[in-house]
Amino acid sequence: MVVIKEVSAKSILDSRKEKTILISIKIKSGKTFSASSPSGKSTGKYEAKSYKKNLEEDINTLKKFKEYFSEEIIEEFRDLKRVEDILEGHVGANTLFAFESAVLKAIAFEKKKEIWEIINPEARKLKKFPRLVGNCIGGGKHSETNGKKPDFQEFLLIPENSSPEKSLKINKEAKEKVEFILKKKDKLFQSKKNDENAWITSLNEKEVLDILSELNIPLGVDVASSSFYSRKKYSYENPVLKRNKEEQFGYVANLIKNYNLIYIEDPFEEEDFESHSKLLKKFPNSFIVGDDLIVTNSKRLQKAIEINAINAIIIKPNQCGSLLEVKRVCEMAKENNIKMVFSHRSGETEETILADLAFGFQADFLKCGITGKEREAKIKRLIEIEKSLK
Ligand code: PEP
Ligand code: MG
Repeated sequence: MVVIKEVSAKSILDSRKEKTILISIKIKSGKTFSASSPSGKSTGKYEAKSYKKNLEEDINTLKKFKEYFSEEIIEEFRDLKRVEDILEGHVGANTLFAFESAVLKAIAFEKKKEIWEIINPEARKLKKFPRLVGNCIGGGKHSETNGKKPDFQEFLLIPENSSPEKSLKINKEAKEKVEFILKKKDKLFQSKKNDENAWITSLNEKEVLDILSELNIPLGVDVASSSFYSRKKYSYENPVLKRNKEEQFGYVANLIKNYNLIYIEDPFEEEDFESHSKLLKKFPNSFIVGDDLIVTNSKRLQKAIEINAINAIIIKPNQCGSLLEVKRVCEMAKENNIKMVFSHRSGETEETILADLAFGFQADFLKCGITGKEREAKIKRLIEIEKSLK
């Protein structure tokens, strides 16, 4: 039984050296549990706001609300409703997510269980581990450069292996090999890494995919197309070129065909459900993934289901903040055979609960990079769960 006696919050720095929230709760039995929230840079227009007004005000709001929590008894995942009834409308999504994560940790400790077991005890029997999706080369908003870079945000390695430990090894080795190849093929390459620890390159999409297709690992991309869409055109820089909706469709379709892409995230801007649907009809065997399109929101997912716009969804818990909404989204996805991709953000902390959430909700994929301590912490937690169930 969890009764929250004290709540404290402060700002910490994420992997991008930007402020994010860390929340600690002290429960009646005397133990303290903490959790932090990540933050995005190529955020979707329809994401919930990270903080009601700003981080400092959310911290003050928590101080004001802290005595309300001591009147609540929290025992199960569904009791997060009590937390949400108190906080909803008063704080932003990052604050709510960090708070609920800390509460989940407390429930698990009090019940002497793992966090993922609080979400779904059946996961122990199902033993389904998400397939890793690792960002190897990056462009777009995540790569700060003065010169050229790919317009697509992420070039992803997706080993076909049900063991996270083996997949991580495959991805790490491949990333090292890619560094070696980039040194030869990209004259401007300096072995620098971007926000998600992927290689920064001056090459364009096709040149990057030419390199990666030699690896014999299934490939994906996060186009993050809303980040370069303006005035009804996709504005490419490398090379400079504007594509309308039809031309974007043709370009993406060609890449899927020519490079055998199994995974394409946000190929069209966040309002354009129809083009996603057209693409899925043409490539039913690839994963057409909605991130900015859906923003972990059950209403937007419902809309996508109605026109068959996607067959996979990114789940970023801090896009909505509420773990109950995450559960609704997951249930809706499962019922409609839409694959679930639990995902990190570009600004990350060393928080590992994402792995527990991914395993608990029986995600199909976990997208959280290949290297870097914030990314590896989550994959290591998944491997720990894998080992504990052997
Ligand atoms: C993404 O677009 O998938 C992503 C992780 O980016 P961000 O966290 O910047 O929204
Ligand atoms: Mg994305």
